[in-house]
Amino acid sequence: MTSLALQRGYIPGNQPDARRFKVFTRRHIDQIPQLEQLSLSDLNAMKAVSAVLPFRVNSYVVEELIDWSNIPQDPMFQLTFPQPAMLSSDDFGRMYSLVAGGASEETIQAAAREVQRTLNPHPAGQMELNVPKLHGEPMLGMQHKYRETLLFFPAAGQTCHAYCTYCFRWAQFVGIKEFKFANSEAESLVEYLGAHPEVISVLFTGGDPMVMKTSLLRRYIEPLLDPRLDHVLSIRIGTKAPAYWPHRFVTDPDADDALRLFERVANAGRHIAIMVHYSHPRELETPIAQKAIRRIQSAGATVRCQAPLIRHVNDAADTWVELWTRQVRLGAVPYYMFVERDTGPKRYFEVPLARALDIFRQAYARVSGLGRTARGPAMSATPGKVLVVGTASVHGEEVFVLKFIQARNPAWVGKTFFAKYDTAATWLDDLKPALGEERFFFDEGADTGDQPRGLSRSGLFSLTQ
Ligand SMILES: *Cc1c(COP(=O)(O)O)cnc(C)c1O
Repeated sequence: MTSLALQRGYIPGNQPDARRFKVFTRRHIDQIPQLEQLSLSDLNAMKAVSAVLPFRVNSYVVEELIDWSNIPQDPMFQLTFPQPAMLSSDDFGRMYSLVAGGASEETIQAAAREVQRTLNPHPAGQMELNVPKLHGEPMLGMQHKYRETLLFFPAAGQTCHAYCTYCFRWAQFVGIKEFKFANSEAESLVEYLGAHPEVISVLFTGGDPMVMKTSLLRRYIEPLLDPRLDHVLSIRIGTKAPAYWPHRFVTDPDADDALRLFERVANAGRHIAIMVHYSHPRELETPIAQKAIRRIQSAGATVRCQAPLIRHVNDAADTWVELWTRQVRLGAVPYYMFVERDTGPKRYFEVPLARALDIFRQAYARVSGLGRTARGPAMSATPGKVLVVGTASVHGEEVFVLKFIQARNPAWVGKTFFAKYDTAATWLDDLKPALGEERFFFDEGADTGDQPRGLSRSGLFSLTQ
C-alpha cells in the first residue's frame, strides 16, 4: 500500500546536498583542518576545556555554519567549540598544565571529574524531584513535572549531532555510556500514559531523539497512537537536528521514513510538533536547513522554535529579530526565549535578567504579531517555568513582575509575583521578594516538594535527569 505521504509527494530531498555524517570529538581535535590556524597553546587550551565540558561537532557545522575568518568571536564557534574562559582561571590553569605537560589521560580525566562536580551538574533538582512512579517503581527515563506534559528520554536518543557549549544537560555527555533501546522502556511509557489520562502532551527529548534511526524512533512513537491513549493530543520531539544536521530530514537514507512517521501521527488525529532548538539565525541560512523545515511541514508537522539567551552567542536584540524573522518567513513558530540555566559554564554565558528583558522587549517590538508568539525571558527553575514579564514601580519600589507559565503545583500557573529589581540577578535564586514580603509565595509550605538548590549537586553520572 502506498502511503498517503508518497501519493501526495513530499518536497523532494535533493541528493546533491547529501553528506555523510562525520563527527569530531575531543580525540579528533588535531584532525579538524580548520583548526590548523590555531597555535599549539590554543589547541592545548581546547583539549583542556573539552576534558571537562563535552565537545562534539560534525563536518556540516564546521564547514557551513562557522565563520572561520572571525574566530574566536564567531557565534557559531562560541556555540560549539570550548573556550578557555568557560572554566574558572584556577580550573583552567590546572587542566591546561596537565594537558600541556603530557599527563596521562587517566590523570586528566580524574582532574576533570573533580571540576565537573563543582559545576552544579544537575540543576533544578531534576534528577531527584521529577521522576514519576508506577506501582511504586521509579519510571527511569521519564520526568513528569507539569501535569499536562510528560517528558520522555529514550535511552537511544541521549546524544546529539553536535554539542552546544552551554548545554544544561552537559553532565550526561561527559561520561557517555552505551545507551540501548529497551522494549521495556517503550512499554513503560505506554503503561504510564494509560494510567495518567491527565497527560495530554508527550515530549520526546534527550540528548536529541532525532539521532535515532527512524526505525527506532517509530518503536517509541507508534504505540502512542493506540486509541486507548487518545488523551495524548500532541507528540513533541525536542531536537537540534534541523540546525546541526538538517540532512536528517532531507538526504539521510531514512529521512523520508521520518516524514512518513510524522504523517502517521497526524493521520492518527494527533498533533506532531518538532520543537527545534535554533540558537542563531545562521542556523536557518543554508539551503538545506530551509529545506529541512519545508519537508517537516510537508509531512503535517509544525515547527516551533526555542533557545536560551546566551552571552557570546545571541545576546543582542538584532540577533533575535533576525532569528524570529527567519522563522516566521519559513512558517516556523517562535516559542520560548529561555534564560541560561544555573549549571556548567554559566558564568561565561550568563546574561542578567534585567538585560535579558531589555533584549527580549527590543526584539519583540520589531517583529509582527506572528513573531510575538515567542515568550520570554523564561527561567526553567525548580518550582516551575517563570517568565520575566517586565518591570514596574509599585509605591515607589522598582520591581520585576514575574509569572509562572508552568508550575510543579498546577495552582500556581498564571500567578504573578514581584521581586526587587536587581541589575545583577541572573536566576530566580538571586531574586528577593519585593513590597515588604518575607518570602515568595511558592517558598511556603513543606508539601510542595521544592528542595534547596544544593540538593541537585549529587548523582553526576546517573542516566535519568
Ligand atoms: C518546558 C517543560 C515542559 C513543556 O512545557 P510547555 O510550556 O508545555 O512547552 C515540560 N516539562 C518540563 C520539565 C519542562 O521544563
